[in-house]
Order: sequence, then C-alpha cells, then structure tokens
Amino acid sequence: MANAPLLMIPGPVEVSPAVLAAFGAPPPGHTAAPLIEAFGTALARMREVWQAGPESQPFVLTGGGTAAMEMAVANLTRPGDRVLLVATGYFSDRMAEMLRRQGAEVVTVGAAPGEAPEPDEVRQVIVTHLAQGPFQALYATHVDTSTGVRIDPAPLARLAREHGMLSIFDGVCAAAGERFAMAEWDADVYLTASQKALGLPPGLALLVASPRALAFRLGRPDPKPPMYLDWETWLPILRAYEERRPSYFSTPATNLILALAVGLGEILEGGMEARFAAHERTGRALRAAWSELGLTLVPARPELASNLLSALRYPAGSAEISATLVRRILDRGVAVAGGLHPAIRDSYFRVGHMGYVTGRPDLLRRTVEALAAALRDLGCPADGERAWAAAEAILAAPVG
Ligand SMILES: *Cc1c(COP(=O)(O)O)cnc(C)c1O
Repeated sequence: MANAPLLMIPGPVEVSPAVLAAFGAPPPGHTAAPLIEAFGTALARMREVWQAGPESQPFVLTGGGTAAMEMAVANLTRPGDRVLLVATGYFSDRMAEMLRRQGAEVVTVGAAPGEAPEPDEVRQVIVTHLAQGPFQALYATHVDTSTGVRIDPAPLARLAREHGMLSIFDGVCAAAGERFAMAEWDADVYLTASQKALGLPPGLALLVASPRALAFRLGRPDPKPPMYLDWETWLPILRAYEERRPSYFSTPATNLILALAVGLGEILEGGMEARFAAHERTGRALRAAWSELGLTLVPARPELASNLLSALRYPAGSAEISATLVRRILDRGVAVAGGLHPAIRDSYFRVGHMGYVTGRPDLLRRTVEALAAALRDLGCPADGERAWAAAEAILAAPVG
C-alpha cells in the first residue's frame, strides 16, 4: 500500500501500528482464550473511555455507526412514543428517519447549517409540548459530521433528566475525542463506531447504556426489538465475556475485537483528559493553519467547532475551485472529503483530524501543505509554510 493516500477524511481514519498489528493477526475463533480475554478487557475499557459508571452496560456489534443508532432506537423507542430530536445536520436527519420508521412521533428542534439550537430553545419546546403529553426521550448528535458542529451534551442530558426523558447521544464522530462524561452527566446512551475517533478500522458498532436505559428496555418486554439488535439477547453473551467465559450468539468480528482492546488501551494510556486535550490542541492548531490559508469554517461560532474535523468553505473564486480542490489534494497524497450537508453540499469540504494523527505532527504538516499547494494550483494565494508555522506554534506550546 505504498501509494495509499494519507486518510484525513472524517472516518475511516489512520490507525496506529499497534492497532494494525492486532487487526492483522490470524483470525482467532470466538471461543479462543486470547479472544475472550480481549473481549472482556475491551468491555471494561469501554466504561473507562465513556466515563460511565460500573453498572453501565457496554454493547459491541459487528456493524457501523448506523447499526449502533439502530440498536439504540430499537431498544428504547416504540411505536407511538413522542421523542425530541435536536437536529444539527445530516446524521440528525438520519436519526429522525429511523425514529419515524420505528413509529415514533418526532418533534425536531433544528438550526441552520453551521448552527446549533441553544439549550433554552430545547427547554422551551419541551415545555410547550407538555400539554400534549410527555416526551419519552431526547436524541442528539454530539458532533454532526456534515457540518463539524459540536453541541454541549451536558445541559441536554440535564434537561432530559428534569423532564423524565431518556437522553441518547450519537457520538460516532466524537467519542474518545471530545469530552463526554457519561456518569457525571447522567446520560443514558452514548454510541459510536470503530472507524472514527476510536482509531480502528471500520466494522464495529459500539454503545454504552446507563442502568436506567437498560432497566427501561427490560421493563418493556413487548414488542421485542429485532433479535440481532436486542440488548436482552446480547446481555448474557457480554456478561460471559467479562467473566472470561466462552459464549456465542452471533460470531463477533474477532480481529476487530483484538484491535479494540489494544486501541482502547492506547486511548487510556495518558488518561481521558490528556486524550481530549490532544484533540483540542490539534483542532486549534489546524484552525490556525486554515485561517492563514484564508479558509473559513462552516460552524458559525468558534465554540461550535468540533476539534475532530474541519468543515471548510471553498474560497470564493472560480467554480473550478469547488469542483476540483478535493481531487487536487488527493493528487498530492492526502484524502479529504467533500461536503455532506444537503443544503450546502457544494460550498465546502471536510478534513478529519482524530485519533492516531493527533500524535503525528508530520502527518498534520503533510495535510496542511497538500491543501496549500492545491489552493495555489487554483490561483488562490496560499502560503503553506506560514500556515504550518501557525499550527506548529500551537502544537509546540506547553500543555495546560
Ligand atoms: C459516521 C457517522 C455515522 C454513521 O456511521 P457509519 O459507520 O457510516 O454507519 C453516524 N453518525 C455520525 C455522527 C457519524 O459521524
């Protein structure tokens, strides 16, 4: 793979050598001792990475982030339930569609692309609708990958508690990179996929459920969710792995489980605060570089910008810029992504910067330089050296 481009899209992402080695091992069987050990270790480490309590329950499925979303919806929401959706872009829209297919009545609090609703707006909507009956749950996307907008989950989880609602957060483009303190915030579900800030190859859907969410599911036995998605199906299997006993319901992606144990171990090495700080610094450094290159962000305000990806507007100029910039960056060996939010798709592009690359300034530098060179090709004034110097100054500053 000498010619594989540097993968700077918002997932899949570059993986560490140790993760790659674990993933590349000969596939173990699902009852092999090393697999059982890795699975048990991974489940315990998930609680730490999620900062969830000891009574919380991690679930790991073969699938993507979308499967993790389906698992949350299938276990917690039933036909006729009224749910509140905080909508910030493409993946919130996907969640809304899933909830409707589940037969839920979905009330949406939305915002223009690049914006996010304020918690007070969300509270207003809850209060205004109370006359028609309670909401069963609040769903929100921690970082919407289509705009790079990050919401603050803490006040939303608090609002949900105050109104007797469950709170479910799509953390696919956030978990292990943006701060999420599940127990402290008393959130009910935080879900993700392996190929984003967790820094693994694609293929795993991961979710941690609070004791309250689990009890809620088990207390509503019928109608049962689809068997593969049902927490009740998986509970004895996962408990067996944590007790280091062999177990089987559906064959896990054994190589990914090996990689998961290693990847979560790497994340926990310096502690979660250091992990979040590394992502914050990387995000800030790259934003300084983009600013030097004359690029502006889709998120409307600095506090809305996620540290894990940059959604960047194409510079004004010829239509050739928006039509060819992403391809020209790829020609220089760096893969970035086009726009995704349907309302603004052709006006911006996206650069992912999560996981392994946050510890690799050389790879961040290649990214900044490839962008600068592609912009220059298109006649935009762009000084890659100055842009990298701005980023490097931030990366070199002492932490804290
Ligand atoms: C990537 C992503 C998803 C979907 O994940 P897949 O693995 O592609 O199914 C869902 N939500 C968010 C916020 C994402 O970034």
